[in-house]
Amino acid sequence: MLERWRELDVFAKSLEQRADGQPWVFYEGPPTANGMPGTHHVLARVFKDVFPRYQTMRGRKVERKGGWDCHGLPVELAIEAELGFTSKDDIEEFGIAEFNKRCRESVFKHVEEWNRLTERIGFWIDLDDAYRTLDSSYVESLWWAIKEIDSKGLLYEGHKVVPYCPRCGTTLSSHELGQPGAYRDVIDTAAFVRLPVTVPHGPLEAGDELVVWTTTPWTLVSNAAVAIDPNLTYVRASYEGSVVVVAEALVDKALGESAEVRSSFPGSEIVGAAYQPPFDYIAAADYGAAGHTVLAASFVTAEDGTGLVHTAIAFGEDDFRLGEAAGLKAINPVKPDGTYDERITGYAGRQVKDCDADLIAELESRGRLLRAEPYEHSYPHCWRCSTPLLYYAKPSWYIATSKIRDRMLEENSKIDWHPEHVRDGRFGKWLENNVDWALSRERYWGTPLPVWRCGSGHTHVIGSFAELEDLSGVLLEDPHRPYVDEVSFACAQCSQPMQRVPEVIDVWFDSGAMPFAQHHAPLENADLFEQRFPADFICEALDQTRGWFYSLLAVSTLLFDEASYKSVVCLGLILDGDGQKMSKSKGNVVEPWSILDAQGADALRWYFLTSKQPWDGYRFSTEAVDESTRRLLLPLWNVLGFFTLYANASGVGPTAGPVQPANDLDRWILSRLAGTVETVGERLEAFDATTAGRAIQELVEDLSNWYVRRSRRRFWDGDEAALGVLRHVLLTTARLLAPFCPFAADHIHVTLDPDGEPSVHLCDWPHPGERDQRLEAAMSAAREAVTLGLAARGQAKIKVRQPLRAAVIVATSDEREALEALADVVREELNVKELRFTDAADDLGRLEVKPNYRTMGPKFGKDMPLAAAAVEALDPGHVGDALREGNPVHINIGGTEHPLGADDLLVAMKPLDGYQLEHQGSHAVALELALDEELLLEGLAREIVHAVQGARKDAGLEVEDRINLQLGGHERLLQAVLLHKDWIAREVLALRLDLGPVDGGSQLSVDGMAFSVELEIA
Ligand SMILES: [Zn+2]
Ligand SMILES: [Zn+2]
Repeated sequence: MLERWRELDVFAKSLEQRADGQPWVFYEGPPTANGMPGTHHVLARVFKDVFPRYQTMRGRKVERKGGWDCHGLPVELAIEAELGFTSKDDIEEFGIAEFNKRCRESVFKHVEEWNRLTERIGFWIDLDDAYRTLDSSYVESLWWAIKEIDSKGLLYEGHKVVPYCPRCGTTLSSHELGQPGAYRDVIDTAAFVRLPVTVPHGPLEAGDELVVWTTTPWTLVSNAAVAIDPNLTYVRASYEGSVVVVAEALVDKALGESAEVRSSFPGSEIVGAAYQPPFDYIAAADYGAAGHTVLAASFVTAEDGTGLVHTAIAFGEDDFRLGEAAGLKAINPVKPDGTYDERITGYAGRQVKDCDADLIAELESRGRLLRAEPYEHSYPHCWRCSTPLLYYAKPSWYIATSKIRDRMLEENSKIDWHPEHVRDGRFGKWLENNVDWALSRERYWGTPLPVWRCGSGHTHVIGSFAELEDLSGVLLEDPHRPYVDEVSFACAQCSQPMQRVPEVIDVWFDSGAMPFAQHHAPLENADLFEQRFPADFICEALDQTRGWFYSLLAVSTLLFDEASYKSVVCLGLILDGDGQKMSKSKGNVVEPWSILDAQGADALRWYFLTSKQPWDGYRFSTEAVDESTRRLLLPLWNVLGFFTLYANASGVGPTAGPVQPANDLDRWILSRLAGTVETVGERLEAFDATTAGRAIQELVEDLSNWYVRRSRRRFWDGDEAALGVLRHVLLTTARLLAPFCPFAADHIHVTLDPDGEPSVHLCDWPHPGERDQRLEAAMSAAREAVTLGLAARGQAKIKVRQPLRAAVIVATSDEREALEALADVVREELNVKELRFTDAADDLGRLEVKPNYRTMGPKFGKDMPLAAAAVEALDPGHVGDALREGNPVHINIGGTEHPLGADDLLVAMKPLDGYQLEHQGSHAVALELALDEELLLEGLAREIVHAVQGARKDAGLEVEDRINLQLGGHERLLQAVLLHKDWIAREVLALRLDLGPVDGGSQLSVDGMAFSVELEIA
């Protein structure tokens, strides 16, 4: 089939055919091709395929431009690993030009594998014309966007405390902290540190020890101040021979019961007290006048620690703000690589977090440690390299997204989210807490931040290569580092040379800008962008709420004051069959190719599309995919095979479905088909592939288990109406199925309509046609009666081939009318001579009530025999009514009333003698079991037909072969044959049927009686 599509170029044709159609816009969220595609990528690609295929059949023009995310840390990390680098210094030494060249080469390392998988799963997307975020045109569009944002006053360089990865040497944005796995539970050390007061101050005496608490001991080397709440009550307390100061509310928690409170006072009285810092590396004066003193702050609580907070200006957001307010300098003794600088003698050059234990040991040896204990908390890590992040005050470039927060919320409220709760939940909450976008990265392989700066600090943002050329005379061939860094021009304000700032930008900005950057808009193709903005549909994993879903919305709201997508489908996690996360170390990863090779693309697609709503996540296994094949594809192949067999046998060529079929079953399946076309279209419009797919599955079940089975005889007879209807249903089903299982659907189409469109994917979506809901309701009543009747047969252990006299059906007058219209069908299915009706189940049997020992036993214990007797004595009719209404039933034991519920009582219907009964809800069917001679002989005749059919099969005859038949054996069997001779001959296609001794042939046994069959082709 793939070859056929390639040969006919079906995808391109399907687009061409809709060239004048109204566009329906899909945006591809770009994957990175430097990693291998996995099963979750298949999931995304299946959902990205089904809705565009459907809309194309609906006449819309659905262009599907592929895309690749090329920049960023993952690429750099892979090259660093390849080259054995451990730090940014290694890269600088190696040379940025050569390093970025390696990055560029590795970006498409696995692109062939991606292309192969994409084709194999039938995901139609234009990969030949895919956008690539590394292309100069793409980068130039980003420059345009950044200049635009700057011109709105929303780009700024700020000093803030930011999460920073010392290994990668770069800042992370808040949405990167939201990536899965960023927060991990770790055990750090929490230290209680003594800081002796140097000069008496208010209630404090010299030598009193302020006790501070910290979970980041490595920040103690740059302690600048102690923060307290001026309104909180603090105490001086005797503790282990010294006087310590803590918040009153935390005395017990911090010091235990041995502490003895001496005096208490409000925090305001100790503001300004000077103390000795934990380490002497940085002098108080270096911080400013308020260095190493107690400061009043608003963020101190009495929940944790001591109520006195160690403050290191450079390493916390609260600390940084407090420092700004108190005029303290943010001294940061930690280098960009995460090690202490030379000011911290003794620890210089070591990774700061590795020093926690030694720093604490040093404090202890100097008598400055009150206590240290393990502290478990959730701590952010670099989502790329797993290094624990440090919070640093450092300059960084920001986009003031918080200023457009309300606009983003408004735009978000218009987006059609699937599932809906993401809009106000996960995504809405995220937007409400929006902080400015930390845009810059101190890295190499990315879109260079187009900001140039002179020695006096004037800046100029460049918005296109032409603008840069005008200013500098240099036309960039490659806008990446290091080439772009070499371009300089004179400052317009002071004429000093301007140099580019060293940063590149967050890759999430790259992908968020794809709506215009993919077309090099607006520098080129502005109209193309206009026509394809915003997207009607995007689809990615749920975790993209803080990734692509966010960056798309933020970028388009910043630039165009509008959301860039109207509908979004979120996909959940894929777990293994036991609900465990798949990981290489557990060895439970199911590779897509193993499933594709064994079960095929359609089976995998069908599983993803219909087994669950996609955001609920999957328990993925080979067995689960098998199950979904068993439900749809197998019955469908069987029906197709059946049609082909009988159409060929009867020499019936392709015909259209009859316009007004006379047969009830034909009318019924056509009505079911019409209803299914309606439902599937409706659900696909609403991005609900799951319900749509299940409707197709139910249709195929009805087709296979009811229509085809009930119509066998007509197919056998080469009934053109029946074959025509079946062909029509199969062809229409193929169209419904085309977006889901594109291979199977096309196979059915090509098989049944060889002279029509060369592919189902060039066909229009079918029209529903007329429905007959009365007939559908009647058929469903008939089928329920059949199901119950067959269950009753099973209970009575009477074979279906044995005819029975009658079935009695409980039915309302409406149901009765419907059933009577389809009485032949029900009689034949149940193999009964007669249908009788009653409107009351009581006519069919008697209710019986028995105690449920399992639930009543534990309640009544030794009184159980009494309780059982009381239950047996209850009026079954009364019990039945009470339980139906949800009321308890009471029994009296030794003068005490005990309520009994539905769990305690087993209510069964005991049928009238001679009947077998089966009921379900208000419906019930009873079979009359008595057999007379006539019924017995007819049953035997049916057994004989069954045996002869077996013999035909064993002889390798085709279904349409006519035979001459000779039957012999037990006298009673021959008696049955004589009585039903014509009928038997018709059933087994015998032109001649003779009785008498059989010499050759097969010796069989029917109901324990000898039976012989000899047959030859007539
Ligand atoms: Zn990192
Ligand atoms: Zn200047």
